[in-house]
Amino acid sequence: MNGYCCQNGHQSFGLNFSMEATGYKVFNDSVHGHITLHPLLVKVVDTPQFQRLRNIKQLGFANYVFPGANNCRYEHSLGTCYLAGKMVEKLLSRESGPRSNEDKFKMTLCVQLAALCHDLGHGPFSHTWERITETWGYDWKHESASIQMFDYLVKENNLHEEFRKYNLGEEEIKIIKELIIGGPDENKKPLLANKDNFFYEIVSNKNTGIDVDRWDYFLRDGLHLNLRITFDYRRLLEFSTILYDDDGLTHINFRDKEMLNLYDMYRVRSALHYAAYRHKVVINIEQITLLKEAHLAPESFSTLTDHVFYDILYSRDERLSAAQQLLQRVLKRDLYKFVGSINFPIAKRLSKKEQKECIEKEKFKVLSKLENDCKGSKFSVEDFYLYLDSTSDPVANVKFYKKTGEETIEKETFENIKNRLAPFPFQLSEDRTAQLLVFCKNQDVKKNQLEKAENFVKQYKTQCIV
Ligand SMILES: [Zn+2]
Repeated sequence: MNGYCCQNGHQSFGLNFSMEATGYKVFNDSVHGHITLHPLLVKVVDTPQFQRLRNIKQLGFANYVFPGANNCRYEHSLGTCYLAGKMVEKLLSRESGPRSNEDKFKMTLCVQLAALCHDLGHGPFSHTWERITETWGYDWKHESASIQMFDYLVKENNLHEEFRKYNLGEEEIKIIKELIIGGPDENKKPLLANKDNFFYEIVSNKNTGIDVDRWDYFLRDGLHLNLRITFDYRRLLEFSTILYDDDGLTHINFRDKEMLNLYDMYRVRSALHYAAYRHKVVINIEQITLLKEAHLAPESFSTLTDHVFYDILYSRDERLSAAQQLLQRVLKRDLYKFVGSINFPIAKRLSKKEQKECIEKEKFKVLSKLENDCKGSKFSVEDFYLYLDSTSDPVANVKFYKKTGEETIEKETFENIKNRLAPFPFQLSEDRTAQLLVFCKNQDVKKNQLEKAENFVKQYKTQCIV
């Protein structure tokens, strides 16, 4: 790759013997094939904090529905790092302004390190952990945990010295952390200059949601779930460039004719959510294994992975027997009984907090009515948003460039192309759609009780939500 060539004098393609001798490493990845990583990236990979990701499933409990969904955060992080390298290489090759080879090299490494480390902070079973901590009342996000874990990784493994070998000091470490979260913390001045703003959009793009993190997990999850993924990220890479926008910052732009490809990307996202991420059996298992019910007291996050499931299951500690019974139910697939689902609209204009409050109110109403009508039975209600509809055009914030590659298309042209190309798999709607999934927790629930509950859910009318 470009940046590496200038430092080491190697060809940008293939791996030769001297590269291997200087610490480059080749990984054979199930999605991208052979991936060659720079020695500094390999140093990060070979740490206990990074290796921990081998034991955190990307898709939480989805493997209880899709047998192949055992892919882990480790391989996803390597894949994201690879794609980040490809994207930087492509964008820098299109850059019109001057940039020294040293700077290209440094920024390539920073973006690839951010990509490699962006998921270090995931907890057991990935996003399931976030939902679990939410039920404990924490506003815990894996992105900020990733930053803490990155600091911890560098310190614990004395990597400062290694970083310095490639001219990455404290300032660059701060930049890497900003790249992980897609920009500076709120109200802080960005560390990168205006001309370098586009680097923030590679690993975690806050404006458009189009970034290499998503590209990798769409492809990887699709492969392991055996779902056909049709959007072509290679084409998007080929037709991308950097241009200044009215805000005085550089942004990643895609060629105008690629709009359809981007719509396809969002369609894939919807399909993955619908088919797997929010599959009712997966949610059912998450409900059963809420680790708080398992009375878990995490000692240290860096030692916490999917193994907690089996730690609890095989523990001789009698205080865990109630939790063990729950986990046994998962293994015997003696799951909560699915009662039904309730869909209702939530006005888009409500704030996130208000939307959440509406949903919580509705959940409480459903739950108390059910437990009152079906005395003796216990229920559980889980909520989420349906992603099939979109309240706004998903590509509205994406910048597109004209054939000449010199300017971003204007609003009118954007609308014309959209009218011609948008498929439209998205039903634009005024409201968001929330869904409640209702489960009965009792193993021995009587048939008539369950029918009563099912009828209640079928006929339930929400007053929501304006
Ligand atoms: Zn990720």
